[in-house]
Amino acid sequence: MSVNIDESACIGCGACTSACPLDLIELRDNVATLNDADACIECGSCVDACPLGVITL
Ligand code: SF4
Ligand code: SF4
Repeated sequence: MSVNIDESACIGCGACTSACPLDLIELRDNVATLNDADACIECGSCVDACPLGVITL
């Protein structure tokens, strides 16, 4: 299970990193990166948090 992050569209705002209850997303070189896809519970918080719709389930 995991989300898909369109890294080319990410502006590095950080909203998704604080939204994830499991802290699975971090910014690397100002781009959101999912650290542990297997741990993602597909709660959708990061999807809702992204102002640009960069993250999809
Ligand atoms: S769907 Fe939920 S658990 Fe998965 S990365 Fe997004 S906020 Fe984290
Ligand atoms: S909320 Fe969206 S634009 Fe902001 S860092 Fe996350 S993926 Fe990138």
